[in-house]
Amino acid sequence: MQIKRFRAKLIKANCYLVAENGRGIVIDPSVDYDEATDGGAITLLGVFITHGHFDHIAALDSYVKKSAAAVYLHRAAYPKLGNPELNCSALFPFEIKVAVPEERARFIGDGSEIDLLSTPVRVIETPGHSDCSVCFMIADMLFTGDTLFKDGIGRADLPGSVPNALVDSFSKLRSLNPTLTVYPGHGEATSLGREIAGNLYIPR
Ligand SMILES: [Zn+2]
Ligand SMILES: [Zn+2]
Repeated sequence: MQIKRFRAKLIKANCYLVAENGRGIVIDPSVDYDEATDGGAITLLGVFITHGHFDHIAALDSYVKKSAAAVYLHRAAYPKLGNPELNCSALFPFEIKVAVPEERARFIGDGSEIDLLSTPVRVIETPGHSDCSVCFMIADMLFTGDTLFKDGIGRADLPGSVPNALVDSFSKLRSLNPTLTVYPGHGEATSLGREIAGNLYIPR
């Protein structure tokens, strides 16, 4: 399994391609379809959204138009795609609006397992930063969106944040294998064990 990180100009949101044998999935489409799939050279099996904030969905339009892949997201993320107030782009001097037809959307939640690659994508709901935040576990990789960063966590004072859910969400992450490699929504990769041991922002 090959993993590739792309970094959007917009607030440096990470976009990940996880691929094997010329087929793959994209997590958080912050960069264009052509960039992430090498102009379609990688067959896109699915698009995964860690939460419905504008920086993580900024280029989703291009995936909807240029591929037939389904979009996997929490039900509460769906109404945010087309609504700048809800996806928080209204806080900035631009508006992001994405239209995903309902038949292209697949709603996921705690315990969902999606079989597209040779290893399933497992979903862990982690509300806090947003009510629609999820993490994706694939083999020994954990894609955390804005729930967990290297030496930080996502702020929980935005519209749609659920600060009082953070303790429960992080206790779920603490129960996972500490050797998991964390691929966050912003910044560099880290390991779960390193963050649990030394990340001062994780609520305890
Ligand atoms: Zn966010
Ligand atoms: Zn973000």
